[in-house]
Amino acid sequence: MRITIQQASPAQCQTKPADESKLVFGCSFSDHMFLMDFRSGQGWHDARVVPYQNLCLNPAAMVLHYGQGIFEGMKAYRTKDNHIHLYRPRKNFERMNRSAQRLCMPTMDVEDQLTILETLLRSDHEWIPKTRGSSLYIRPTMIASEPHIGVRPAKEYIYFIITGPVGAYYAEGFNPISIYVSDEFVRAVRGGVGEAKTMGNYAASLYAAEVAKHKGFTQVLWLDGVERRFIEEVGTMNIFFRTNDELLTPPLTGSILPGITRDSVITLAKHWGLNVQERPIDIQECIASIQSGAMLEIFGSGTAAVISPVGSISYKDTIYTVQDGGVGELSRKLHDEITGIQYGEKEDVFGWVHEVRI
Ligand SMILES: *Cc1c(COP(=O)(O)O)cnc(C)c1O
Repeated sequence: MRITIQQASPAQCQTKPADESKLVFGCSFSDHMFLMDFRSGQGWHDARVVPYQNLCLNPAAMVLHYGQGIFEGMKAYRTKDNHIHLYRPRKNFERMNRSAQRLCMPTMDVEDQLTILETLLRSDHEWIPKTRGSSLYIRPTMIASEPHIGVRPAKEYIYFIITGPVGAYYAEGFNPISIYVSDEFVRAVRGGVGEAKTMGNYAASLYAAEVAKHKGFTQVLWLDGVERRFIEEVGTMNIFFRTNDELLTPPLTGSILPGITRDSVITLAKHWGLNVQERPIDIQECIASIQSGAMLEIFGSGTAAVISPVGSISYKDTIYTVQDGGVGELSRKLHDEITGIQYGEKEDVFGWVHEVRI
């Protein structure tokens, strides 16, 4: 695959945040971006690294009307001895292809996607922060660009990758979240697009998240779309429950996003000898287990926070605190293990780290 590189001129360069400890998620972007076009009959073409810039879109671009848009979220980490690591990057690109298929969009060769990302990172490696816990957030995105009014799969697409430095998620230590069970709104239904990382899912989640915030809670706990009874996800994270003898998480039945952190948690927990079960979890069962003290800890998993401990759950106007509302033992252990692997400090037993040669 041929990738042309157009170096950003000094005037085209982005302002780099001076203080790595004050990085705000999603607010600053690196000097370069990757762009590539697709046309049916021609396939992917014109792969290029260019200065970070606005896109030029026809107002009839189909993504703006019919929502054919998908993305991924991943990070590049700088180790203490200055190596650059990606974490299970092929998993992101395989998932991008599954999202593409679900939305009738073109797929891309996984190895080509990895080559593209490595090329972009070589142009912007100085943007990967040095502070432990900080990283370069990477957002691969594909949108339907064909100008056309009328519902059908588009014939033209743009694939782009933007990146930007982000600070340590827990700069001030682990912070348990309070979650609000939405029994009115749902995120996704089985048979829908919940398992695809597609833009509309996030638009669909905003209203419930605003309601939760207004009531003073950090995130929404989503229940299944049919019975509003079985737990699905927390905010934009997968969810885990630990009792005395089990680590539980809902099964991937179509409405849940198959998280790579979720897969890492399951793999590590099994490796440590825990009894991991993927089965439906009734919200009533969860509440009863918190009340009896059998629930030891609850946590969310995702690329941004890695592990996010849940301190309390609000359901039908009652707040249930998990144990003492603090950080569970397994939450801490998983967080330390996964970040340790990402930053090259812990043994990478499963071969999850992909080193980028700059
Ligand atoms: C991205 C995402 C996750 C977490 O996936 P990771 O691969 O672990 O980052 C979970 N739920 C939703 C809805 C997501 O968008």
